Amino acid sequence: MIKREQYIEFLNKLSNILIKRVSPVGTILSINKLFQTYLDTEKAEFVIWDNNNMMLKDFSNDWKIYGNDEKEINYAYSNLSMSDGSKFYFNDEYFSYELNSDEQYKISELKRDKNTIIFPLSSNGEIFGLMRVFCEKNAFTKDFFAMLNISSKLISGAIINYLLNEQMEVSLNFYKAMKDIAKIIESQYELSYIIPLIGEMIDRFMPAHLIYIFIYRNEQYELVWPTSCNDKNIYSLLNNINKRTDYILSDDYKIGAFPLISDDNILGAVVAYSNIERLFQKDIDYLIQLTRQSSLTIQRANVYAEVLKYATLDALTGLNNRRQFEIRIKQEVSNSKRNNTPLCCMMLDVDYFKIVNDTYGHAAGDRVLKSVSEVICNEIREYDIACRYGGEEFFVLLPQTKMAEAVSVAQRLRKVIEEMKVDLKGTGNDKVQYISVTISIGVCSYTDNMNADTFVQSADKALYEAKKRGRNRVITAE
Ligand code: GH3
Ligand code: MG
Ligand code: MG
Repeated sequence: MIKREQYIEFLNKLSNILIKRVSPVGTILSINKLFQTYLDTEKAEFVIWDNNNMMLKDFSNDWKIYGNDEKEINYAYSNLSMSDGSKFYFNDEYFSYELNSDEQYKISELKRDKNTIIFPLSSNGEIFGLMRVFCEKNAFTKDFFAMLNISSKLISGAIINYLLNEQMEVSLNFYKAMKDIAKIIESQYELSYIIPLIGEMIDRFMPAHLIYIFIYRNEQYELVWPTSCNDKNIYSLLNNINKRTDYILSDDYKIGAFPLISDDNILGAVVAYSNIERLFQKDIDYLIQLTRQSSLTIQRANVYAEVLKYATLDALTGLNNRRQFEIRIKQEVSNSKRNNTPLCCMMLDVDYFKIVNDTYGHAAGDRVLKSVSEVICNEIREYDIACRYGGEEFFVLLPQTKMAEAVSVAQRLRKVIEEMKVDLKGTGNDKVQYISVTISIGVCSYTDNMNADTFVQSADKALYEAKKRGRNRVITAE
């Protein structure tokens, strides 16, 4: 047993451990070592009552759940939590902190080979968990219990701080996810692009569950994010969705379906499948709100899509949009045919663009697309026609241009883009300011036996070849 002077040392060390902001697991390990050294204990664990889910969870062990079969700890919690907070538990009996000599005698009577001591963890007089300490042959002096008592108070404070911080972080992430979903619409209007983004955002916020997004089309639910879902239970749950409810849950609480609703119509659904034991009320509350925000975004995207039918330019890059492109290519092909003048086209695709999005976020991805489109505009002639063909694919029509010239334009573009530094300022990337990307290009020269479609297809084939041969290169169609 340790001497009086060493108690000060012990408490100092404990405070130092608690001040350091390391992971809970790391902190608990250090506490355990300290207890072993100074108090001769075997093991100490910290158990927290989860009010949302009405169960005890192990703070020292990755929130492992204590089921009802773990009687000792559940029993101790229900008793201690109703006490006035001045009692602890020693081998099935309760004692007050101020051990009198009778009680000390009783403890020596109760002493076994293996002993369990349980102290409440409390904050503002409310008991929120337990500290359970196992020891073998210990002296169990008054000072020993006093040390455990003080330790439990100090550790309570640290745990509460940790939990508050964590809760704050979850709230911040939640508001960020809500804001991000609302903001998607500033640059994107196509549902096929918006829905995966919403999926990614909800998924990032709820890493403990699998998230699926379905669109309701032709009276059935089609999965749009991610790429596969084989769980029949999910589909049968979806068929019970009704637009009047916020959500429905499977019988085992593992699956929740949250309808996406706009103007009283079901647009689709967000489904959460719990990777842990079940969906809890907190998760459900978050999902209801995230789904509502998603409905609003999808609804607005639909309105924009309607408006954009009349637009000719792409909203993000200011280049011609796909629709305009379809018109222009037909015109240029027939001009070339009629006047017997050369015509080339090139299809460009950013290499490994998905990695850019995944690493730096979509705002950075959008910044790259803008920069690439600026280079394209700067490098082509006035009467060349550039358009954004799809996500990170661009198309340039080069009237009055022969293959050799088109290839040199393509090479120049490729090189300028390779050397370009895209400034990520303002995209939420603090660590990296500049990134670089490369592009692959397929070039095709128009010949008489082609029509507009086969012309585009040949360029696309050449682009595919450029990707296959290693990217960051220009390939011509045969
Ligand atoms: P590869 O070198 O084979 O072309 O690989 P890649 O990753 O570029 O190709 P992939 O087609 O797999 O990925 C394209 C990505 O572009 C996926 C999609 O999320 C993203 N994307 C599409 N449109 C946009 C957009 O408008 N903005 C942003 N930030 N990303 C977009
Ligand atoms: Mg692509
Ligand atoms: Mg690409």
